[in-house]
Amino acid sequence: MTKHHRKPRCVGGTSVYPKGNISLLRENEHRFWHSLFGAWWPEWIAAEISRKYLPRRLQVLAINFFGEKRDRREPKWHKKIQKKKKPKFVEWQSLFPRSLSPEEIVERINERFIDPEYSLVIVDREATNSIAAG
Ligand SMILES: [Zn+2]
Repeated sequence: MTKHHRKPRCVGGTSVYPKGNISLLRENEHRFWHSLFGAWWPEWIAAEISRKYLPRRLQVLAINFFGEKRDRREPKWHKKIQKKKKPKFVEWQSLFPRSLSPEEIVERINERFIDPEYSLVIVDREATNSIAAG
């Protein structure tokens, strides 16, 4: 097993901060996660998952529990680069087998992979639209 810093060290994550920051991952699992998402901000990870790995009607958002003021939205330059890159289905499906529902995938990411100060949530664009349409 290897130690994964859920809040990356480069942005201040340590083995004790924030609480629960270390998770133990199998070596493959760890490598695949960083191959897919580097040490990105959770907002960027959410955008990439929505773009490439879930059905179009589902959007993943990253919620910060501390209401951090800084804008961590994926910038246009990053979006542009990532859109040109093909999805990494081998890595993705190794981490998240087809048998998992989108909700189960997000749950697994929240528990083991991303900064514990954040939580990914799924929004159904169609449900949102129908509410907006009244
Ligand atoms: Zn790691």
